[in-house]
Amino acid sequence: MNAAYAADIGLEVHAELQTQSKMFCACPVVDLTQAPPNTAVCPVCAGMPGTLPVVNELAVVYALQVALALECEIAETSIFARKNYFYPDLPKGYQISQYEFPLAQHGLLPIRTGEGWLDIRIRRVHLEEDTGKLTHVHPEEGAPYSLIDLNRAGIPLLEIVSEPDLHTIEQVQAYTRGLRTLLQYLGVNSGDLEKGVIRFEANVSVRPKGRTELGTRVEIKNLNSFRTMTGAIAFELERQTALLDAGGEVAQETLGWDEVHQATLSQRSKEEAHDYRYFPEPDLPPLVLQPAQIEAARAALPERPDRRFRRFVADFALDGYQAELLTNDKATADFFEQTLTAMPEPDPALAANWILGELFGQMHAAQETFATLQIAPESLAGLLAKLQSGKVNNATAKAVLSEMAATGKRAGEIIHTAGLEQVSDRNTLAQVVAEVLAEHPTEVQAYREGKTALLQWFFGQVMRRTGGQANPIVVQALLKEQL
Ligand code: ADP
Ligand code: ZN
Ligand code: MG
Repeated sequence: MNAAYAADIGLEVHAELQTQSKMFCACPVVDLTQAPPNTAVCPVCAGMPGTLPVVNELAVVYALQVALALECEIAETSIFARKNYFYPDLPKGYQISQYEFPLAQHGLLPIRTGEGWLDIRIRRVHLEEDTGKLTHVHPEEGAPYSLIDLNRAGIPLLEIVSEPDLHTIEQVQAYTRGLRTLLQYLGVNSGDLEKGVIRFEANVSVRPKGRTELGTRVEIKNLNSFRTMTGAIAFELERQTALLDAGGEVAQETLGWDEVHQATLSQRSKEEAHDYRYFPEPDLPPLVLQPAQIEAARAALPERPDRRFRRFVADFALDGYQAELLTNDKATADFFEQTLTAMPEPDPALAANWILGELFGQMHAAQETFATLQIAPESLAGLLAKLQSGKVNNATAKAVLSEMAATGKRAGEIIHTAGLEQVSDRNTLAQVVAEVLAEHPTEVQAYREGKTALLQWFFGQVMRRTGGQANPIVVQALLKEQL
């Protein structure tokens, strides 16, 4: 972007709350990519006249947890409101949302960027319901038509609105990733963007550097992946700065993102709040939370991912890269900490290397998650302890790990049954080294004449002869002595 300008970006993040039933009826919340269309629909979420909504208590608890984790001020009384507009995916002709009196306001999310930690202010967090899903079909022949799936209509949706505190694409990425991780930590959303469970809208403006007043913003709707979101924002920053540079003005409008042409396109001039004719939902009482309920939700909060990250760096001396990989996913961070707790001599670097390296590699190859993995943290700790005490060497430990994953057996059992204990006995190994050298006089000669790189080759021969079980340090020492 042109260096004479600064960017201001505010995000509206819509996250489905993955409760069992919908926000205002008993229909199940289904995986929209799996369930046949219109199989999780009832008269309430289909908008039949005369039906009445009932608030899903768990959705309120989930929303409260997110708002508390974002350090928001919680409204003891919030009000559901009707946001009126006509659209085919909205059978009632209005969406139940919150407007003047949202559940929570004035929070913050710390994000980690190249320039260090930044606090991004959260403007508001409110509850609403999702709409149905339209699929537009353009057949080769005949008129285009649209299909409607109401499975999504009425799924609880949390809207999290930031202040325009984001100024670069990198910050936008850190914010959205951080928010997604937080939702996963709280167990309220799977974070599966491909399934559409988190969706973004970006408000973007630019202003000449040094001016404090914000520029005119556009709002880009329906951004459903990190890639489209960053692509659309980057496009807008270029478009707006070029426009201002040429003496033009940015029009306040609502834009869509055209994936094919990689460009934003105008959908309509920006609607104003009064266009929606908001009014309090007459079919629902105010949402009242007791202080005790708020405190109970606060007490049940897990450690926030950013705090866990900082603790991992401070207490375990991990680098930022490792700490980030470990804390990005709660199951991974939990597994890591449980492994450490189970180790007689906890070694964070060793545990981190094994989990992020060998274990992740094997899990990835076998398409496993921590939910399906047959290795308990205590079991990995057992293997690492054998490695620390020299009972097995690195290569054997890797083989044992994959056996553990395949069979669910413990390290000790596998090592014992297969006789995989590491051989560290000097006399035994000296014998093997002597044999290998005696069988390869030419190579010994070459080594002594200066081809020292052959050391690795001799090492390989000895390891092969011992079935990979020799203690590598002892072998290296013996080779140097005898050569
Ligand atoms: P609306 O519901 O009309 O979209 P809000 O005023 O609540 O309106 O703003 C929505 C989002 O727009 C917020 O994330 C806010 O930070 C962002 N925003 C407001 N003004 C600007 C601006 N000038 N530039 C960029 N983002 C902005
Ligand atoms: Zn329903
Ligand atoms: Mg908006």
